[in-house]
Amino acid sequence: MNKREVNISFTEYQKSDELPDADKKLVAEAVDAASGAYAPYSGFRVGAAIMLDDGTVVRGANVENAAFPSGSCAEKTALSYMVANYGERQAVAIAITALSDGQMTEEPVPPCGNCRQMLIEEEQRGGKPIRVILAGHSATYVLESSQALMPLSFTGNNLRK
Ligand SMILES: [Zn+2]
Repeated sequence: MNKREVNISFTEYQKSDELPDADKKLVAEAVDAASGAYAPYSGFRVGAAIMLDDGTVVRGANVENAAFPSGSCAEKTALSYMVANYGERQAVAIAITALSDGQMTEEPVPPCGNCRQMLIEEEQRGGKPIRVILAGHSATYVLESSQALMPLSFTGNNLRK
C-alpha cells in the first residue's frame, strides 16, 4: 500500500497593483467580458478572458437559461469560441472574475469542475501550461498550470487500453 499526496501551489496577490501588467490587462478583459453575461436569474455575472500565443484575447461570459442545465459558464463559452475560431493557436493564460450586484466578488471565484476539465483538455491539446488568474476584489490567485486545478483528472490518456 502506498499513501500518496498531491500538493498544489499558487501565488496570492492581495493588492491588484502587484499583479504583472499582462495579468492586469487580462483581468480587465475578464471584467469587461462579465458585462456581456446573460444572468437574469442569479445576477451573478462571470467573465473569462483567454490570452492566445499570438496576443489575441478571446472573451466569454456566462449565459443562463430558464432551464438551468442549458446555461453555460463563462470559461466554457470562451474555450468553445477559442477552439472553434482559433483552433490552431495555443492558450497561454485565462483570467476569470465574477461580479455580484455589479461589484467584483471579494474572493476569487474558481472554475467549476466541468470548466476545469475543459481547461485541462485544452492545456493538453496545446502542449503548454495555461496560467490561471482568479481575480477577486481582495485577492487574486495565479496558478501556473490548469492541471493544478484538478489533480487526478480524467484525460484522453485514460481512454487508452
Ligand atoms: Zn464552469
